[in-house]
Amino acid sequence: VKFKVVVLLIVIVLLLTSVIHGDNSDELKLILDGKPLQADQGRAIRLNKRVYISLPFFSSLYAVTRWDAETGNATIRLGTLLIKMTQGKSTATWDGKTKKLSYAPTEQDGGVWIPLEVACGLGLKSDLRGDVLELSWEQNSLLFVKSSSYQGRPAITFQTTKPVQYKNYLLTEPNRLVLDLEGVKRFPYLEEDMTPTPIVQRVRINQFREDTFRMVFDLNQLAGYQILVPEENPNQVLVVFNALIKDIRFESAVGDPRVIIDATAPLAYTMSVMVEPHRLVVDIDDATLATPKEPIKGDGAWVNSVRMSQFNSHTVRVVLDVATPQTCYITKSRLDPKRIEVRTQQEIRRVKWQPDEQGGALLIDSSAELDEEFIHHKDPERLLVNLRFAQLVTDTQEIPVEDSVVKAVRVSQQNTDVQVELSLESYQGYEAIFSKDRCSLAIRMKNSPVARRVIVLDPGHGGVDAGAIGSQGVREKGVNLEVALRLKDLLEEAGAQVVLTRIDDRYVSLYERAAIANQVGAAMFISIHSNFHPNSNVRGVEIFHYPDRVTSNRLGRILLDEMTKATGFSSLAVKTSPNMVVIRETQMTSVLVEMGFLSNYQEEAIIATSEFREKMAKGIFNGILRYWKPENPSKGPRLEKKE
Ligand SMILES: [Zn+2]
Repeated sequence: VKFKVVVLLIVIVLLLTSVIHGDNSDELKLILDGKPLQADQGRAIRLNKRVYISLPFFSSLYAVTRWDAETGNATIRLGTLLIKMTQGKSTATWDGKTKKLSYAPTEQDGGVWIPLEVACGLGLKSDLRGDVLELSWEQNSLLFVKSSSYQGRPAITFQTTKPVQYKNYLLTEPNRLVLDLEGVKRFPYLEEDMTPTPIVQRVRINQFREDTFRMVFDLNQLAGYQILVPEENPNQVLVVFNALIKDIRFESAVGDPRVIIDATAPLAYTMSVMVEPHRLVVDIDDATLATPKEPIKGDGAWVNSVRMSQFNSHTVRVVLDVATPQTCYITKSRLDPKRIEVRTQQEIRRVKWQPDEQGGALLIDSSAELDEEFIHHKDPERLLVNLRFAQLVTDTQEIPVEDSVVKAVRVSQQNTDVQVELSLESYQGYEAIFSKDRCSLAIRMKNSPVARRVIVLDPGHGGVDAGAIGSQGVREKGVNLEVALRLKDLLEEAGAQVVLTRIDDRYVSLYERAAIANQVGAAMFISIHSNFHPNSNVRGVEIFHYPDRVTSNRLGRILLDEMTKATGFSSLAVKTSPNMVVIRETQMTSVLVEMGFLSNYQEEAIIATSEFREKMAKGIFNGILRYWKPENPSKGPRLEKKE
């Protein structure tokens, strides 16, 4: 009896607290510096007459926050200030010192709530009117100065609490940049984190006047810079410096001379031609020459020498003294966007179809390293190969082809590019193999073993027939359908024609399923199921086919191998069954796959994930490909030796 009374009391107390809680916690409208905040930027509540703000709100103050649900510890770091609090405790550690809070942080409805006074301690003033809480920074403070980068160029970021006015001056002797931030004060816990760069030696910070903060950048060399206020953060000022040109050199591989310019960031450039004497002038924007460099020698054939200079504080100028004018171009390196190359136009010397036992390959020979781009187009199916900055030695031509995938090949000059167009019967991808010097290329179109084959996929159960249901609630009919739909996408991508016995959650009889496969003249039928066993320890993949069917048995063995390889599930067996309607009544190669056991707790949990369903579909797909693949795998296109 006593026990019953205690239980009753507990129930009453619980009911009462939930009522009190429900009445006393209300959401406040939160405004920061005049701007209403979205829920994900921060929230405020009043709970038992106490005002709290959400932990994520401090991110809107540029602080870094952390919450450890296990220990109930919350930390806020702003500049060098570290505040540590614990849920339910009204003392905090504030910059290493213990500080008393009027009330404790609390966890409520999945959120972590921090007493309002913590925000005020950071320099915010608060104004609560009705259900509107307005917070604003008492003054514009500089919170941190950090090395950063902007579009690959070295930068320094200044974070203030409000938008800032600035003035900047570039001074010489010694070289330095002065930046004045007006109306800004130093945050007591200002964080300075700057690493020297090849341009900036160091940064000195001081409160220049009562209302002006001065930054002096000591520069190794007079370099261009840019001052930006990012659109997404108007309280930030970014000083972005030029990228450096680290190296300029001349390389003359046979038939492929080039000037290589290496920078620390991807850069914009322009090239112009000047005559008498003939020169190529390359201007690189937002760049500084790392060290003054002596002119370098060219090959004497195309270029006599290459000179370089800091043209102005923003531009590096590279001049090629040309010996013999040639068609040339400037480009970013295919391998490295920070590298700029000046090259002569290459010659496409030969485009030829070479038949072999697997059909054939298209061979392309050029005078220099190819700069290619592959584009696949549909309707009609074709593959375009753009060979950039190339000159066709011959006229436009049609290359004779005899192949089951490639119908025709046409080669033509398109402005500065040579275009090779392969007209295709169907598209299953291609293989491109380059010679070591990258001057020769062989293209072979992939020929999918399932192309144009009709495959029927049969997602087991559906509608009123749910199939097996696991103890965690996973339903077989849904799993079967999802794997079948993913498998359908993979097969169609590879060129197969896929028919499904159902595409949604509906009931289809077993005889109807088999009839569909027989009517469409399918080459293969796969019924997809999930297993169930009274013994919950039984697990693994199991496959059934009708007795005495050789091709179905072979498919079953391949699928068992690929399905277990793809998922890591164990391999049970390939079995025969004379009584399963769908594999008995279908007149083609047919199997029923059991992907795993919903009666096994671990397997059900794995089957519930979309990762498993993707892996399983991929495993069955690999098995189908393997079933039809020729026994001798393709050797791939071969390149002829260049003479
Ligand atoms: Zn089933």
